[in-house]
Formats: sequence, C-alpha cells, structure tokens
Amino acid sequence: LTQLYAPLNFLGFVYREIKHALADMERMFGLLEQDQEVADRPQASALDTTRASVEFEHVDFGYDSRRRILHDVSFTIPAGHTLAVVGASGAGKSTLSRLLFRFYDAQGGTIRVNGVDVRDLTQASLRWHIGIVPQDTVLFNDTIFYNIAYGDTGASRDDVIQAAKSARIHDFVMSLPDQYETQVGERGLKLSGGEKQRVAIARTLLKNPPILIFDEATSALDSRTERAIQEELEQISRDRTTLIIAHRLSTIAHADQILVLEHGRVVERGTHAGLLAAGGRYAQMWRLQQSGGDRPGDGEGQELAA
Ligand code: ATP
Repeated sequence: LTQLYAPLNFLGFVYREIKHALADMERMFGLLEQDQEVADRPQASALDTTRASVEFEHVDFGYDSRRRILHDVSFTIPAGHTLAVVGASGAGKSTLSRLLFRFYDAQGGTIRVNGVDVRDLTQASLRWHIGIVPQDTVLFNDTIFYNIAYGDTGASRDDVIQAAKSARIHDFVMSLPDQYETQVGERGLKLSGGEKQRVAIARTLLKNPPILIFDEATSALDSRTERAIQEELEQISRDRTTLIIAHRLSTIAHADQILVLEHGRVVERGTHAGLLAAGGRYAQMWRLQQSGGDRPGDGEGQELAA
C-alpha cells in the first residue's frame, strides 16, 4: 500500500493542477466572453503607435437599449495627459473605460484614438496599446514571477525585476522565503489589495502601453497606502495617456483635467484648482471627503486630503 501512496499522491497533484488551470482559463474566458459584443470590420487597420490621444465625441451608450447609461459624453485626452473621472457610484465611470477598451460599441457618437474611430481599428491592436490596472486584480494560481511576466511573455528576469522595483513591490517579494517563486492566488500566498494592485502595476509597466486606465479601488485605505498609490500612479502615468477612474479626490489633484459625471452626464470639467474655485459639485465632494464625511471610520484620510 505504501508503494501506491506516491503515485496516487502524484495523481492527486496532477488532478488539482488541471482543475486550477481550468479555473484560470474559465476566468480568462469569462473576461473574453464580453468580446462577442463587437467584431473587427473587414478593413480595420492596426494601431501602431507609442503616443496616443483619446477622444470621446458626443458618446451615448446603454448596456440595454431601454436604459441609457452615458449621455452625450465628450472629452479629449491629448497624448501624455491625464484625465480623471469622478462621480457617485453607478454614474458610468467604469463604463467609459469599457468603451475605450471596446468591450462594447457606443450607440451614438464616436471614440477615437489618434484621430481614428476605434471601430476602424483591430481590437487586438487597440487592446495591445491599453494597459488596465483594475480595481480588483485577478492573480493566476502561479508564481509572482509568472503573474508579473504575464504582461509580456517575452520578458527577461531582469525586466520583471525592474518592473517590480518601479511598482514598489520588489522589496516585499524579496522578503518572502521563495521570493519571485512564491506561489500566489487562491492556493498560495494571499496578497493584500494594495499588493495585488502593485502586481498589476508591474504587469502594466512591463507591457509598456501608451494608454493607461487606472481604476482606483473603492476600499478605504490608510493614508500611508494612499500616498504610496498616488506615487505609483504618478510613476506609471508619466508620459502615458491616462484615464483615472477615481474614488479619492486626493489622488487626482495633479490630473490635467477632471470630469465630474452625474447619471452619465458630464456636469463639470476643469482642473482641481479651477473646480474648487467654481464652488460646484466637485468643490462640494472635496469638502465632504476632507471632513471624512463619505468615508466613515477612515479618519486618516482627512490628513491627506487637507
Ligand atoms: P462605481 O464607482 O461603483 O464603480 P461607476 O460609476 O464606475 O460605479 P459603472 O460601472 O460605469 O459605474 O456602471 C454604470 C451603470 O451601468 C450602473 O447603473 C450599472 O448597474 C450599469 N452596468 C454596469 N455594467 C453593466 C453590465 N455589464 N450590464 C448592464 N448594466 C451594467
């Protein structure tokens, strides 16, 4: 019986590996399923650029024809600039990023990259030019190295380490017993929200896309983590065309332009200073966050927002 133990144990291991690999694939296909909404046009061209401007012109959109989510949204992000979008939950902020990534096509208006309608670009080339740091990063059941290198499968070990350093996760990784070989994901080490976001940032830095979408996590953060994320954001958005879906106004004070979205409409736009001076919705939201009014229990945030 003891002779049987090793092979059976091995078979059990193989079974678990296959099951987890399938779970990863399911998750990936879960993401890809949304693609069915759009198809490449026969004459679609491939986007090929290191600098990209993004333009939304009179964009109307609803996931369902009976319910309009975005109404006449227009904005331009010149190449290398940062635009931040703020607004209440459900206002349509993340929907903007899904449209830019072309998970869906707008029902009205036009979205352009470098002046070209995204519907005239191949989806693969468009998406290759966009890096997303999502609110909640999905980690594969694999090593930290694999999870970062996923951004660029041809990356060398030095490239991965450099990206991890820029994303400020290298020191943490080196403090683990298995370092870059540490298993993460459901079966391995559970990373905190901030650590997972840094893995996503390292992945994005490795991919080095000209367009960046940063979907800020909604969860309350202590002021130290918040400041660290702000620094990371500045690091990755430098020289990139950046769209920030923001929940904390303190992280976007440096943005070139801020849009305030309400029920899918742009109700205000300007710089942080300009919007504060205007004394409208943004100024009101700023005062509320400063007083900690919409983040109960996170007293530290006041210090940063002030
Ligand atoms: P939050 O700050 O909570 O992330 P948000 O401003 O990013 O919110 P969106 O995710 O853009 O909001 O959602 C806008 C609206 O669209 C919401 O009312 C939401 O219910 C709806 N919605 C989002 N995704 C889908 C979908 N896949 N199918 C149908 N409706 C959706």
